[in-house]
Amino acid sequence: MTTADRRTRLVAALPDDVDAILVTKLVNVRYLTGFTGSHGAVLVDREGNAVLATDGRYREQAAGEAPDIAIQITRTVATDLVRSASTRRLLRLAIEPHHVTLSAHESLRAAAEEVDLVPVAELVEGLRIRKDDEELRALRSACDITDSAFTSVLGELRPGRTEREIAWFLMQAMRSAGAEGAAFDSIVAFGPHSAVPHHQPTDRVLERGDLVKLDFGARVAGYHADMTRTLVCGPAAEWQLELHAAVRDVQERCRSATVVGANPVDLDAMARQLVGDRGHALVHGLGHGVGLEIHEQPFLVPESAADQLASQVPVTVEPGIYLPDRGGVRIEDTVLVGDAAPEALTRSPRELVEV
Ligand code: ZN
Ligand code: ZN
Repeated sequence: MTTADRRTRLVAALPDDVDAILVTKLVNVRYLTGFTGSHGAVLVDREGNAVLATDGRYREQAAGEAPDIAIQITRTVATDLVRSASTRRLLRLAIEPHHVTLSAHESLRAAAEEVDLVPVAELVEGLRIRKDDEELRALRSACDITDSAFTSVLGELRPGRTEREIAWFLMQAMRSAGAEGAAFDSIVAFGPHSAVPHHQPTDRVLERGDLVKLDFGARVAGYHADMTRTLVCGPAAEWQLELHAAVRDVQERCRSATVVGANPVDLDAMARQLVGDRGHALVHGLGHGVGLEIHEQPFLVPESAADQLASQVPVTVEPGIYLPDRGGVRIEDTVLVGDAAPEALTRSPRELVEV
């Protein structure tokens, strides 16, 4: 799908009572235009005409990445596009209320008082849920690199290594395998730290008997992979084997249920039930969509506004059980929702690996 096709879909999704939309959230600008710079906004009218505004640093890049779109060079991208809308008599203008700050809103209003700013939440985010083939190619590549970094890190995990060292190793492994960067700051958690769902790496050293939780992913062409594996610096204790087996079973069941037509709220409820049956509580959502953002629609959480899952939708499935001061286990895959069964895009071994 070309960016022009995406803009056509955007126009079709516009509420009837607006003349155009001003898109200011950068990943949405990228999705609609191909422009990857750090400053820009795009105005799209009902005929699908688009104007991309960015500043002088990006003049050539914008022309190269968005060759089919008119480009306006300015330092005040959003307010200038509101003024253009006014000049063109596009007087009811949709804006992204989940992104426009109160002060930006003031500036937009002041730029052209005759233009009505109409909040339309998450319109482009909705279009981004289902991925096209090119997006899935990038995501698959990010997941493959994530798997290869996991294989490499196994040789690095030995007593005496610190969480920070392992996090840095993962970054290097992903970059040298072709990632443009990490999808997010890697979570490397040893021993009791593994009981903290979003632990930040410290100088703690790996010791025999520690659980090792690694949550990381590569980014390729803007697309984010996300995977968690929990290992043990062996030999594994009985409670660690049991905890790991329990989470693995929950993850497998929830993963198998991530099919076309499944409801994100039901999937989350299923995970909550399965974890509850084992005497624990799920302290975070079951998963989330991935794409140009590491966390995006659809969200597999109790109060999700998401529709039933469709094909071509990548989501994570990441149940975890955390025992304070002892350790925790999470197993997470990026999976592609399928008709009969989902396809796991991250495929590293899910059994309890001893290092
Ligand atoms: Zn993760
Ligand atoms: Zn995740």
